[in-house]
Amino acid sequence: MERKIVGVVSGKGGVGKTSITASLASLAKKDSMMKVIVSDCDVDAPNLAIILPPDEESKIDIKDTFTTLKSEFLEDLCNNCRQCVDDHFCEFNALHWDSQNSIPKIDFLKCEGCGACKVLCPTHAFKIVAVKSGEIISYRSKMGFPLTYGKTQLGSTTSGKLVSESKEHVKNLKEYNESNLIFIDGPPGIGCPVIATLSNLDYVITVCEPTPSALHDLLRVIEVIHQFNIPFGILINKSDLQSSFQNTFSKYMSDTNYEILGKIPFDLSIPKAMSFAKPVVQYAPDSKASLAIKEIYTNLKRTLWDQN
Ligand code: SF4
Ligand code: SF4
Repeated sequence: MERKIVGVVSGKGGVGKTSITASLASLAKKDSMMKVIVSDCDVDAPNLAIILPPDEESKIDIKDTFTTLKSEFLEDLCNNCRQCVDDHFCEFNALHWDSQNSIPKIDFLKCEGCGACKVLCPTHAFKIVAVKSGEIISYRSKMGFPLTYGKTQLGSTTSGKLVSESKEHVKNLKEYNESNLIFIDGPPGIGCPVIATLSNLDYVITVCEPTPSALHDLLRVIEVIHQFNIPFGILINKSDLQSSFQNTFSKYMSDTNYEILGKIPFDLSIPKAMSFAKPVVQYAPDSKASLAIKEIYTNLKRTLWDQN
């Protein structure tokens, strides 16, 4: 079967994206036709590894990434003229004067690596260097499939680049060549990390729930997906939530005619499974939520490979 790369995004955070990804991947692992790999690209808050921890015998591979640029001060070249601070070289307010030593100090967290100080300093006493921006961790999960995730370093300004590196890293896994289904758990929002997540996907699952904020954020993320021209389906979590917004939500869904990949009813099995750090399809395989996710998995396969 031809390999398909499926992103799972949501616009709004906290709508169940990660627990649904874990369950879909677990179902794929049990499917004899599938060779699945999972990559958590929510690099600022990766938590798929909590639900899908490493197998006790698995080797854990950690690779440092250097996608963030920062300024480094070269004291030997400085003539202590103070221009960098007095003339406000730094738009990000990352340069301060150290009166005791008569030199500028760089605030590491504020520095965006823009290079202005390097260009403007008359003695070239700054240089721009790549610093550690995060890590990419890979292992075989307890469910038996490979899992990778990116983790941003504090102060890194390049989450999008780390997402791209994490996605590329999947290709280095020994299981990649024989894989035919790759799930990418994306970050919430519509920023740079989401854009990096969406590139080169075959299909996107957009998870939402029938609430005003989730619908608002869903519309924003759909706008971004349209820019990439990728087919997508909407997965409605807590679909039977009792709320006055249900009618508005249902009308929107029927008016737009977007593909509804499936609906998961409100089911306490999901938070219970989360509290035991397990995919719900493993924790409560016969629960309402698990049965719905199994149906969604079948729909997804049909959509991806046109199976009848
Ligand atoms: S770093 Fe450059 S601009 Fe700043 S005090 Fe030194 S020489 Fe002057
Ligand atoms: S590289 Fe840019 S952001 Fe960093 S200290 Fe220099 S001017 Fe400021």
